Amino acid sequence: PGVPASDFVRDTVRRDNEQGTYGGRVQTRFPPEPNGYLHIGHAKAITVDFGVAEDFGGICNLRFDDTNPETEEDEFVRSILADVAWLGYTPNEVVYASDYFEQLYHWAEHLIKHGLAYVDEQDTEAISVQRGGYGNPGIESPFRDTPVQENLAKFHGMRAGKYADGAMVLRAKIDMQHENMQLRDPIMYRIRRGHHHRTGDAWCIYPTYDWAHGQSDAIERVTHSLCTLEFDSHRPLYDWFLEHLPLPAEKPKQVEFARLELTHTVTSKRRLATLVNEGLVDGWDDPRLPTLSGLRRRGYPASAITDFCRYVGVTRTNSRPSIELLESFVRKQLNATAQRRMAVIRPLRVVLTNWPTEADGTPVVEYFDVVNNPEDEADGVRQVPFTGELYIEQEDFAEVPPPKYFRLSPGREVRLRGAYFITATDVVKDADGRVVEVHCTYDPQTRGGNASDGRKVKSTMHWVSAAHAVDATAVLYDRLFSAEVPGAETGEPLDDLNPASREVLAGCKVEAALADTAPGQVVQFERIGYFAHDPRTPMLFHRTVGLKDEWAA
Ligand code: ATP
Ligand code: MG
Ligand code: MG
Repeated sequence: PGVPASDFVRDTVRRDNEQGTYGGRVQTRFPPEPNGYLHIGHAKAITVDFGVAEDFGGICNLRFDDTNPETEEDEFVRSILADVAWLGYTPNEVVYASDYFEQLYHWAEHLIKHGLAYVDEQDTEAISVQRGGYGNPGIESPFRDTPVQENLAKFHGMRAGKYADGAMVLRAKIDMQHENMQLRDPIMYRIRRGHHHRTGDAWCIYPTYDWAHGQSDAIERVTHSLCTLEFDSHRPLYDWFLEHLPLPAEKPKQVEFARLELTHTVTSKRRLATLVNEGLVDGWDDPRLPTLSGLRRRGYPASAITDFCRYVGVTRTNSRPSIELLESFVRKQLNATAQRRMAVIRPLRVVLTNWPTEADGTPVVEYFDVVNNPEDEADGVRQVPFTGELYIEQEDFAEVPPPKYFRLSPGREVRLRGAYFITATDVVKDADGRVVEVHCTYDPQTRGGNASDGRKVKSTMHWVSAAHAVDATAVLYDRLFSAEVPGAETGEPLDDLNPASREVLAGCKVEAALADTAPGQVVQFERIGYFAHDPRTPMLFHRTVGLKDEWAA
């Protein structure tokens, strides 16, 4: 690796290396809870956790923080593994906090034996009330001074299943008057008879995040435990547990950085789960969601996401970059890599009245070489068929052109990209007066799209030969939430859900070459945008992003 970028996380690591704090070792972890799919915010954490390790020649584990049996599932584990791999990172090891349940249990016994933890038989509500608040004194639990042997017996009983769910908890005995609420005798274990996705029914007590996290870091020998800013106030507790356990002197260090949020969307697993579970979107990989599986299905290249995360950088100030900024990374990447195709998403039939026929009466078919990607010569050219009946976009014809409209209209000549100049002569309307067909003449002297006499036209339009077109469905997307900060006004993001975030256009007419598009492949529909072929449904295309920033002021 070259010289690592400079930011406060990397500066901390560099300083520790210089001082020999960890003997030059650098080890991080990415610790998702498998209770949902990863989102763009997690991508940021992944680029920081894996990126820092990589920059300093260290290692990074993927650790499933699976301490809540009710909400965690194998499906989420599998999706997280797939998403991390998709972003291009390979964990040193894949590990589970649940692998450490036995060790955590023994360490809890250790704290009890040293008078540093006790069983509290009050309910969690009473405990929370007694904890007080900032500036308010805490009230000590009546169970705080239970003798060690009694605590041990009760704790063993908790594990053995002697007590009902919620009957008691284990708490660390720290300081009920501490100005940091986290240190007012935090809960370490709860009784829960949920079925755990890995340990099954082996346990009926489960450690809290605070009790599991730092200890898992210590077991794995993590040096820098990178997490988001909201854990700032947990750091003294993180350190307290590590200090009071029989551990080597070299202890992991928690370093917090800012969360990533984006405009017009939500990056909270809980909120995303609501959208999925209430059927407001079609599953975790709905292309409107900021989940990595949704963005992938939408056609976002992994490298556009990681480039974006690196650009945003690691800071200690929470930020909400615009979704347009992310889209600009996507567009830049796709412009370089996506092959161009012609696709008509709202078709209007065009008949060339002077198109020649063969001796047997069938229309002549000509083929034009069309460049696949002007940004990459290696992508070569393809042959596109052209005949006397074509489709163009409805919006590329106006019977009565508004001011500054230079596309097709009666008497107006335009270019069909790479083919011929055509002039509209007549229209056919349906019973409601809508134009359903446009009659045109073509100029045989303009083959290839240029007039031999040098005359110019003001517009060039894409087209598809009617006889050769393939049917497709295109899905266009708008912002999932209309407000920049969903819920800013009412506190409820769902109030800002955009009811028109998706437009499904069935009956698109596209170039036959699009039938060969691989599942998941992204192509550019000329003049319309980048589209991703759905991974499961053939000929279903999701608009990844438009060609230009349509939301720019
Ligand atoms: P959520 O609050 O959305 O449920 P979480 O923080 O509980 O997210 P975890 O699965 O526990 O989700 O997160 C794994 C790691 O990813 C943690 O280190 C967490 O700090 C980090 N992370 C989660 N959300 C973001 C975000 N929006 N920006 C940056 N890092 C994040
Ligand atoms: Mg969490
Ligand atoms: Mg959370």
